[in-house]
Amino acid sequence: MSVNYAAGLSPYADKGVCGLPEMFDSPEELKAKVETLAQLIKESQYLVVHSGAGISTAAGIPDFRGPKGVWTLEEKGESPRFDTTFEEARPSLTHMALLGLHRAGYLKYLISQNVDGLHVRSGFPRDMLSELHGNMFVEECEKCGRQYVREKVIGVMGLKPTGRYCDVVRSRGLRACRGKLISTILDWEDALPDRDLNKAEDSSRRADLALTLGTSLQIKPSGDLPLLTKRKGGKLAIVNLQPTKHDKHAHLRIHSYVDDVMKQLMELLGLDIPKWEGPTICESSTATSESATDVKPPRAITAKKKGKKELIKVERKRDTTALTDDGSVKEETVSVKRERADSPVEIKEEK
Ligand SMILES: [Zn+2]
Repeated sequence: MSVNYAAGLSPYADKGVCGLPEMFDSPEELKAKVETLAQLIKESQYLVVHSGAGISTAAGIPDFRGPKGVWTLEEKGESPRFDTTFEEARPSLTHMALLGLHRAGYLKYLISQNVDGLHVRSGFPRDMLSELHGNMFVEECEKCGRQYVREKVIGVMGLKPTGRYCDVVRSRGLRACRGKLISTILDWEDALPDRDLNKAEDSSRRADLALTLGTSLQIKPSGDLPLLTKRKGGKLAIVNLQPTKHDKHAHLRIHSYVDDVMKQLMELLGLDIPKWEGPTICESSTATSESATDVKPPRAITAKKKGKKELIKVERKRDTTALTDDGSVKEETVSVKRERADSPVEIKEEK
């Protein structure tokens, strides 16, 4: 299947600011900045990484707002160039370095806006990963919530039925669940997945260092999550070629290719970058990797508030917020679900 997943989305007017010029730090600047980043990571107790389309361009998948991005070209009436298919795309150096950072104990949680499935196929543990906009390889039972990671893309978008049915056999019963399986890919109007968003918010609040890689941070709520870390006293480091919406909030801004940054970073930390040996699915950070496609159901996360159980209801629709002309941020940015951030909600996981 073509990697032009964007063509499968419904038309949407506000794509944010596209095609801003890219900036490049000099080799000396880059070296000094990556040394600072390595120091920040060594000093951190809880590092969360936020990844965007910029980390997959090296894998042949176009980004959205870069000079050759999907939306940038759409504005010019042109079509983006695809150098691969989702099935053939290989995780980039950055994907593999993130796996190495996690295994070394530095990276505690990974939040991605990418739907290309490369984090999962790189072997990054799914219980340490939030895929906020879905995954082209994952379908989910709308009845029991079980997810299936497939070897081929699902081929359906916008949370629509895929034509397959859930084959979970209920305990001691002989009948399978038979719920309809649906795509996990969000269309513009779809709400973000509860489980992934809740875990992303919790880890962002807990983090003392947020590192964003290859995202202009324009899509809400995903792009605003690093601000939760900042608001709790943590630091924000941004790696992106173009200006991002939250540049002025950053402790460190690096303008370079993410792969160059990650390569230097891993050397400074004395870490090897794991080799990719084909698609590998790892469900749990405590379990060994497996290539199976059968996946445990996600547990529904409910909030317990004042002794009463209720589902968290927050605004989870996606939206873009424009960059101002100089690339700085308009001051409405920390409005990400303030109602949840300030209320003492106890998170309880249920089977
Ligand atoms: Zn089911």
